[in-house]
Amino acid sequence: MTPLDQSPAARVEPEPVTALSGVGPALAEKLARLSVHSIRDLLFLLPLRYEDRTRLVEIGALRPGMRVTVEGEVELSEVVIRRRRMLLCQLADGTGFVLLRFFHFSRNQAAGLRRGTRMRCFGEVRLGTSGMEMVHPEYRRLAPGETPPLDETLTPIYPSTEGLQQKRIHRLVEAALARIDAEPPADLVPAEVLADLGLPSLLDALCYVHHPPRDADQALLEQGTHPAQQRLAFEELLAHQLSLRLLRQRIREHVAPAMVSGGSLLPRFLNALPFQLTGAQRRVLDEILVDLAEPRPMLRLVQGDVGSGKTVVAAAAAVRAVEAGLQAAIMAPTELLAEQHLRSFRGWLDPVGVTVSALTGRLGAADRRTALEQIGSGQAGVVIGTHALFQAGVEFARLGLVIIDEQHRFGVHQRLALTEKGEDGELRPHQLVMTATPIPRTLAMASYADLDTSVIDELPPGRGQVTTVAIPDSRRSEVTARVRKACAEGRQAYWVCPLIEESEQLQYQAAEDTATALADALGELRVGLVHGRMKGADKESVMSRFKAGEVDMLVATTVIEVGVDVPNASLMIIENAERMGLAQLHQLRGRVGRGRDDASCVLMYHPPLGQGAERRLRTMRETTDGFRIAEEDLRLRGPGEVLGTRQTGAMQMRVADLMRDQALLPRIRKAADRMLAEQDPAVAALLERWIGDAARYGKV
Ligand code: ADP
Ligand code: MG
Repeated sequence: MTPLDQSPAARVEPEPVTALSGVGPALAEKLARLSVHSIRDLLFLLPLRYEDRTRLVEIGALRPGMRVTVEGEVELSEVVIRRRRMLLCQLADGTGFVLLRFFHFSRNQAAGLRRGTRMRCFGEVRLGTSGMEMVHPEYRRLAPGETPPLDETLTPIYPSTEGLQQKRIHRLVEAALARIDAEPPADLVPAEVLADLGLPSLLDALCYVHHPPRDADQALLEQGTHPAQQRLAFEELLAHQLSLRLLRQRIREHVAPAMVSGGSLLPRFLNALPFQLTGAQRRVLDEILVDLAEPRPMLRLVQGDVGSGKTVVAAAAAVRAVEAGLQAAIMAPTELLAEQHLRSFRGWLDPVGVTVSALTGRLGAADRRTALEQIGSGQAGVVIGTHALFQAGVEFARLGLVIIDEQHRFGVHQRLALTEKGEDGELRPHQLVMTATPIPRTLAMASYADLDTSVIDELPPGRGQVTTVAIPDSRRSEVTARVRKACAEGRQAYWVCPLIEESEQLQYQAAEDTATALADALGELRVGLVHGRMKGADKESVMSRFKAGEVDMLVATTVIEVGVDVPNASLMIIENAERMGLAQLHQLRGRVGRGRDDASCVLMYHPPLGQGAERRLRTMRETTDGFRIAEEDLRLRGPGEVLGTRQTGAMQMRVADLMRDQALLPRIRKAADRMLAEQDPAVAALLERWIGDAARYGKV
């Protein structure tokens, strides 16, 4: 039994928000959108930022971007009509003046702000045409001699949702805080850990973040690095770590078929390969083989940069499964990739007599029946497919190993669904996950805490260099000339068309137009086209002609982003590169430089470049190292996007930020180790508090 079952804390129903006066079903429904269900949850609804309404700022000291309170006298007030009708007031306090600009105002309001009126305003300062101004500040008029008190604490701004005002949220949080002394939330982080890190108790941390004192270090609060926030971030990251580790524990309690070595199939397979494994591939394969020999499900992640040769390592693992009399399933994120794997695997496995079957969404009824038969009878040793692999009706004879390629496209749920497929009484298959998004070690430790990690940190020998240039699209004809020259020399090229997010239809249209225009411009070249809407068979036929060298240039949408492998292609043109993310650009560029020839990548962009785009293109020019690119990508986009977990919701954090709080991770891992070993009842309570519904990850 794990702590999750034992703890009474997990079963105590917290008091619902509706127990607060004035909270009816409609309000409760809005709060639920913020994951607030109980009164306790309100304490953990944490401010996004703060406003300082504790002091008056001299108008002469205003700078653009400040959000501040000022007080002064109206010196000038007039309604003007420029492009729109507006009320302009000039407010002065003896140190300077600021212009207040109102677009919506009543006649009464305008009259109330006449010359000589004293007022206090709160708003954001910006630089207008005639100096500092505030647009629609909050304001109150002051009677002669009136000086209302300022706030004593910083004002938290909470996450909100439509129809829920800050004022309302404030009142609710206050109500929850009013009960905090009577029913303090349990401190679930071991006290000595907090002492070690110099972090405050939960109670202090919560009170602080909801009511930071006037003299609080605003810069720290802004960055989220104040000890009170770090205290909460620590707890949240710990909860995530625990949920993943419990998930792992649960899976590892199952029995998996132990694939002990001794057969001759794997050595024959390795001997028949057209190349030798690199040292890194060999080492990672050995790590996998050790796991596979154990009677517990392997849970291993293989990281490796684009082109490091993950596929053949996966194939070798699959061969070990077959050698042990079991089946292996490989799941790819796209049909194109499944088809390519099918070709590679058949090329490697036919010579050693292993049957490879395919199961994709596009199979005709008869082919599907055949495939299902082969899978069900065990005749197929290796099965390659897309999501179709884990649809109902797919029965494996004896699935021993599940391999998931390019994992960032799948969520945790999908991964679990696939292992349940192999469940055969008590037996669970081994799981191997291959990802092409290299991520820094500490981050991997946090986001894949349920997996052991292997890294292929070496590229196969004899790879050419890839040179990258960025060129404005006004010089398109030069780029075309370059393609002509490269192809005349017997090389092959990719031309990637822009992603048009608003419309799939437009996207395909653009690809078709580009292919036609290029075919016209490069009359002597054989131009192929592949995009997501083509029939699988057509796609495959274009791809195999490209692979066979019968097509010189492949015009494609970003469907080729992941995994496509044609070593002779050495020129990559990417249109509208400024719109693409770093991970995607790196993946696309990874399609070239796979052979001996030096390769080049042309990033065409449409000027002017924004700051982010400029930085991305510069990074691409400066390095081809996937780990460096991933780090930069993490800085620019944040881990939720990069790890692809944002959509799956698995890693959504309320206070913590994996990048910012990386330094806490080793300590978090240690704390998690200990709490799990001691079956600390706080584990269940932490999951309940921070993960909520997602706690079921731990119940697999
Ligand atoms: P990725 O890690 O990006 O999935 P692939 O598995 O597609 O990379 O491998 C890239 C290319 O390198 C393929 O053509 C593959 O056959 C080749 N390859 C893999 N391992 C080696 C090796 N040890 N020596 C030479 N070529 C290799
Ligand atoms: Mg790959």
